[in-house]
Amino acid sequence: MTHALIAGGGIAGAATALALRKAGISSTIHEAFPAGADDVGAFLTIMHNGMNALSAIDAGTLVAEASFPADSVEILDAGGLRTGLREYENDPGAHLGPRTLRRSELYRVLQDAAVDRGCRVEHGKRVTRAEHRGGAVHVGFDDGSWAEGDLLVGADGIHSTVRTIIDAEAPSPRYTGLNIVYGYARRTTPADITCRYRMGRGARAAFGYIHTPDGETWWFGRLPGSELSREEMAARTAEEWKRYATGFFAEDGTSMADLVRSTAPGDIVVSNAYDVPSTPRWWRDSMVLAGDAAHAASPAAGQGASMALEDSVTLAKCLRDLPTIEVALTAYEGLRRDRVEQLVAASAAHDSPPPERSEVDSGGARETSAAPDTGPARRRWLYGHHIDWHTRIPETPGADDSSPST
Ligand SMILES: Cc1cc2nc3c(=O)[nH]c(=O)nc-3n(C[C@H](O)[C@H](O)[C@H](O)COP(=O)(O)OP(=O)(O)OC[C@H]3O[C@@H](n4cnc5c(N)ncnc54)[C@H](O)[C@@H]3O)c2cc1C
Repeated sequence: MTHALIAGGGIAGAATALALRKAGISSTIHEAFPAGADDVGAFLTIMHNGMNALSAIDAGTLVAEASFPADSVEILDAGGLRTGLREYENDPGAHLGPRTLRRSELYRVLQDAAVDRGCRVEHGKRVTRAEHRGGAVHVGFDDGSWAEGDLLVGADGIHSTVRTIIDAEAPSPRYTGLNIVYGYARRTTPADITCRYRMGRGARAAFGYIHTPDGETWWFGRLPGSELSREEMAARTAEEWKRYATGFFAEDGTSMADLVRSTAPGDIVVSNAYDVPSTPRWWRDSMVLAGDAAHAASPAAGQGASMALEDSVTLAKCLRDLPTIEVALTAYEGLRRDRVEQLVAASAAHDSPPPERSEVDSGGARETSAAPDTGPARRRWLYGHHIDWHTRIPETPGADDSSPST
């Protein structure tokens, strides 16, 4: 196989281009947006396993330089009192500790690296159709143009078009019952401690915030509510969104209500949270899914980006090592499906209200002590996942090329 077409220049798309390049396979990224990408306002944290995947494709340092460390997580109760603390340095794979950055910045770093290393990125190219014909995949765009390659990687996010091209019956994303609000507040007083998440569950909504090293506080709230259409989001002004979000934290003794109030109206982002628990078909012919297009966890997991990065590296290794596209895609699905579906299920359990919630782990830290503490084993499974670039993928379906780091 010589050339791949990648739908989507987000995290999975750009990382797949980098990984394929390292595997000796050229690619072109086709990104729908004229510049940047979709819904890039929020920030995210790449956990140990995601940083590990980035290192496998020589992008760990680039991302580290564009981000700040997330050293620890302190759990707060609704009164603002600390109920737990996790220092990430004690976790498996801690030498590649979690990093926080804006999603737009991550896209930029990965896309720039892809271009620097010889990959092509075409913006303003929304994939609308694709067909496998004559041993090649032909991909059509909304501007009427077509491209041809050996493989189409659908890295086009949670509302993936490629998912429905592969399988017209593929389930749609599931609304989680939560609106996510993000904000960037400029501090007027020095932070007590930077690079530490404070998060927890208030009387009405889950929340989190972190003081950045350069004088801002980044915060989020997961607000129970109905799914919002674009029109409904636009119908409220930023000031009205601020008032709405503040109301969810007004009864709590945390800093959240003040943080929301002190955020400039232009620095607040609202979206719906969805997940995709299971996609029956990950690939067909020479078309395959990666990242949120294949599986998407609610943001509560803090793992969507990391899982997308793992997908990209594993997919490239399978294509590098296995004799045909069909064998490679079978192996890729076998290596990835159980892990990501387990993660999506854990994240959905996290979002459900107590007492159904059995296990809670947000960005790596427990928010309640209602369930037995399975923390260390869980953390090893999730964060200790190590993909060795040089280990070859065996031809046996389901064989695992990864192991927890020690
Ligand atoms: C509010 C919010 C907060 C989150 N916080 C975290 C976090 O803290 N940690 C974490 O790990 N994850 C987090 N996530 C999840 C994470 O953002 C996603 O899992 C991750 O972005 C998935 O990467 P992706 O490349 O698969 O999809 P995306 O990053 O969504 O990229 C898809 C790309 O495809 C493009 N595209 C879409 N359709 C087409 C088309 N037809 N043709 C061409 N291009 C197309 C889009 O414009 C976009 O650039 C969060 C998600 C949300 C919504």
